[in-house]
Amino acid sequence: MKCPKRLWLRWNQPDLGVVDEAMLARAEIGQKIGILARGLNSGGVEVPGDSLSERLENTAQMMRDGHRVLYEAAFAVDGLFAQVDILFRIGEAWGFREVKSAKTVNDNHVKDAIFQYHVLNRSGLSIERVELIFVAQETPMIEGSRVQDLFVPLDVTDICRRESPELPEAVNELLAVIESGEAEQIRAGRHCEATCPYLGHCFGDLADDDLLFAPSLDKRKYQSLVDRGIYRMSEVPADEELSNKAEFVRRALGSGRVPWVAPDLGRRLAAVKYPAVFLDFETASPLFPVNPGMKGGELVVFQFSAHVLSEPGGDAAHFEFVDLESDDPHAGLVEALTPVLAGAGSVIHYSAFEKRCLTRLVGAGVPGAQELLQKFLASSVDMEDFFKDGVYHPKFRGKSSIKVVLPVMVPGLDYSDLQVKNGGMAEMSYVAARSGELVGADLAARREALLRYCERDTFAMVKLFEALLGLV
Ligand code: SF4
Repeated sequence: MKCPKRLWLRWNQPDLGVVDEAMLARAEIGQKIGILARGLNSGGVEVPGDSLSERLENTAQMMRDGHRVLYEAAFAVDGLFAQVDILFRIGEAWGFREVKSAKTVNDNHVKDAIFQYHVLNRSGLSIERVELIFVAQETPMIEGSRVQDLFVPLDVTDICRRESPELPEAVNELLAVIESGEAEQIRAGRHCEATCPYLGHCFGDLADDDLLFAPSLDKRKYQSLVDRGIYRMSEVPADEELSNKAEFVRRALGSGRVPWVAPDLGRRLAAVKYPAVFLDFETASPLFPVNPGMKGGELVVFQFSAHVLSEPGGDAAHFEFVDLESDDPHAGLVEALTPVLAGAGSVIHYSAFEKRCLTRLVGAGVPGAQELLQKFLASSVDMEDFFKDGVYHPKFRGKSSIKVVLPVMVPGLDYSDLQVKNGGMAEMSYVAARSGELVGADLAARREALLRYCERDTFAMVKLFEALLGLV
């Protein structure tokens, strides 16, 4: 249990949790993989029910009715609840399978299985077999493959049998956390993970200069300050030694100016050469390949947007490319991008990802990709660097991603009006298009939505650049 407060909130105030678009996208992928894996025990029925009590009742009834395979069967005992992806008969006994949208096992997968085993066992089922199901390392394309070739099982029956007797003690500890209320007082800290749905709740009340938002404050320094009751950068003693980046924040706060601009920002911006090309790629790396010859997890670069600014303050021309139709979008993308970058003075991108995309195209042997990469490397300007150590705004809260800095630097411009709002949704759109889930008018509409999303990224970069120029 990494954070008792998370457990406490989940049980006592679940409504405070916020599931963002990226989490939803991940959950949707997991759901699709789970449904696909049902083919390992085909012929089953999904247990219906809108509420927990309905699913519990229906599970019990369907087992009495003699069903041999159930999907999402639900059980509750001793105040504990468990649901299993696939429940199947083995003679008079039962087995269950839990499907993971991953290729390798981790501790949590096994702990979850032990918990499920315990609940099913205590519910009176004789469990003969427990398997975790993972996506195969070398996954073939789903289309035309046997489901057995898409997944690999890991038998965890023995560990479940061995460890489940220990579970009641651990469960009692968890129940004590849920009931005591002490956990509610836990302060947000370095233990918080980006995937915690309560980040908004726990971080909402923190001051903008909380140590948690200070970049490059190493673990020991952070702990030493917190141990002395210091939680804000503005409270850090003047003689405390800090890393360069943390020192940058302290100087910014000390200046009293918002936003604070580093003395060398003007020189760095003046080094940008025109025409300046603002470039962004969209990619997918699905667990299951969606194109012939592709490997599972391999990066596909299927889209770019570029705004070209001929001079400071001028109008930017827009160029774009997306390919959802062909089996390999790379050659077409390189062909379309080559003339856009040909005359570029600077190629402005956000983060190191664009370099990775071009390196991938070179690795795939795409004609012209090597020249594009060389052009990129010779003229690359990473705009995120300006927001890492060139401008400090407390509302950035220690982050420099475009989604965070944009609404602060360019109020009113964001992604909320778009159908595709982030890279995860773009990736899912590509996978849906390539696997035939999107066709006809739906495919055309999604294609348009992808174009508008990627365009917004590079338009946002142009506007951010203007905002930066306005600061110096
Ligand atoms: S945000 Fe942090 S403190 Fe709050 S519940 Fe999540 S992990 Fe715990």
